[in-house]
Amino acid sequence: MTSRKQKISKSSYDIIIVGAGPAGIFAALELIRRDNWSVLLLEKGLDLGKRQCPARDEHPVGCEIGCRPCNITCGWGGSGAFSDGKLTLSPEVGGWLSQYVGTEELERLIAYVDGIYVEYGAPQQVHGTDHGRIEAIRQQAMQDGLRLVDAPIRHMGTDRCPAVLQAMRNDINGRVEVATRTTVSRILVEDGRAAGVELQDGTAVRSRVVIVAPGREGSSWLVDEAAELGLEMTNNAVDIGLRVEVPAIVMEPLTDILYESKLLYFSKSFEDEVRTFCMNPYGFVSKEAYGDVITVNGHSYSDRRSENTNFALLVSTRFTEPFKEPITYGRSIARLANLLGKDILIQRLGDLQIGQRTTEERLERSTVEPTLKGSTPGDLSFVMPYRHLRDIMDMLEAMDKLVPGVNSRDTLLYGVEVKFYSARLELSSELETKIENLYAVGDGAGVTRGLVQASASGVIAARAAAEKMTD
Ligand SMILES: Cc1cc2nc3c(=O)[nH]c(=O)nc-3n(C[C@H](O)[C@H](O)[C@H](O)COP(=O)(O)OP(=O)(O)OC[C@H]3O[C@@H](n4cnc5c(N)ncnc54)[C@H](O)[C@@H]3O)c2cc1C
Repeated sequence: MTSRKQKISKSSYDIIIVGAGPAGIFAALELIRRDNWSVLLLEKGLDLGKRQCPARDEHPVGCEIGCRPCNITCGWGGSGAFSDGKLTLSPEVGGWLSQYVGTEELERLIAYVDGIYVEYGAPQQVHGTDHGRIEAIRQQAMQDGLRLVDAPIRHMGTDRCPAVLQAMRNDINGRVEVATRTTVSRILVEDGRAAGVELQDGTAVRSRVVIVAPGREGSSWLVDEAAELGLEMTNNAVDIGLRVEVPAIVMEPLTDILYESKLLYFSKSFEDEVRTFCMNPYGFVSKEAYGDVITVNGHSYSDRRSENTNFALLVSTRFTEPFKEPITYGRSIARLANLLGKDILIQRLGDLQIGQRTTEERLERSTVEPTLKGSTPGDLSFVMPYRHLRDIMDMLEAMDKLVPGVNSRDTLLYGVEVKFYSARLELSSELETKIENLYAVGDGAGVTRGLVQASASGVIAARAAAEKMTD
């Protein structure tokens, strides 16, 4: 795809937003709800209706095409557009914004953002609100050494997410100037203040405020710009783990009540934090391409069910001195799995426990039928560091007391699942950088890792910018 720039009508705006993911879209929505500012929203990918992934359509086993930019992660709606669309309504999940605005304010922001998703078509139903039964699960979990973070969830589903994002797009149309296929290459600063942006073709567009929301896709660009502008950054942790697949009936004691259960555990072998992530009741295991590396993921539909439930077990690692490349570390482990298997390795838990590889024949004997076809039966102990594997096996043992059957021989493990988080910019409580009127929000700024907090971060910056401009 060529990156032909869309025409921009003016040379100067009140506010420029970089990136049309949830963070950028919610910043724009907040601004038009507040005043008549002139707002330009720049997005390097395509408009929603034009986003089509040839790899997903033709070779659902992974990307060998490498579109620039990628239609899965870039374009109107950002990397969340074709996501499972789980809106997790808890300040403890999906980012670190409570460190900036405090828990109470974050709770208010989450309710506000959630209301907007519903306004644009997210379903009314919220899972995980039966407090009596949740308390019983929490008590049982505590006895097993697990901490339950109960988070109400509104589930849009992979199929409904684009419709919600299109409704937002229609509403913004005419009130915010949106330029897709337009890549920002530089942030312009004059006298210590944001002054606009420079586009890939060298055009300068001026503004009083710049809000950058480039997502994980644009995080390395942001790191380079931050270095250029003398802004400080710190590394976030890297989460490495496996995707677990079990019969849906095994997880029903949790999923019927909570939909997605977030469990935290400190492993008995290393005292590392292990957590469940992205639980998909009756869902499907899927693949994801990070450049030339294929990792595993999972999702579920609002109107299609499998017989299984899948979730990730992730081990968080924060490197200290002198190592500064958590993303390279995570990619290297995922690459090992790609080297040994075709891309994703699959192993029965029972085989892993007795130190034998899973073969096609052993997999066929499993009572759990994999929802991801085409992964290579193999031995995950040749891929995962002992520490991570031990942590995950400890957690499965602990979980088995809460949900009997999860630690069974036929439980399927897929590897490797890796979650990279962008380096974090030094920001004020309003998400403003040390450069006046330059705000950094969403996953790209390293302050969020989910749809709701990313959206909330856009609102925080928009409100702060609007207030400043009104003064
Ligand atoms: C497969 C998948 C499933 C997920 N499922 C869920 C889920 O169920 N629930 C949940 O809460 N979260 C989920 N997430 C995470 C969620 O999608 C992200 O946390 C969220 O989209 C982050 O929003 P953002 O606006 O910060 O960044 P993004 O959504 O990544 O958007 C950033 C945008 O900026 C654009 N951009 C980048 N650089 C530039 C530049 N230089 N110039 C112009 N434009 C630029 C990009 O093209 C992109 O469109 C999922 C993510 C993936 C990948």
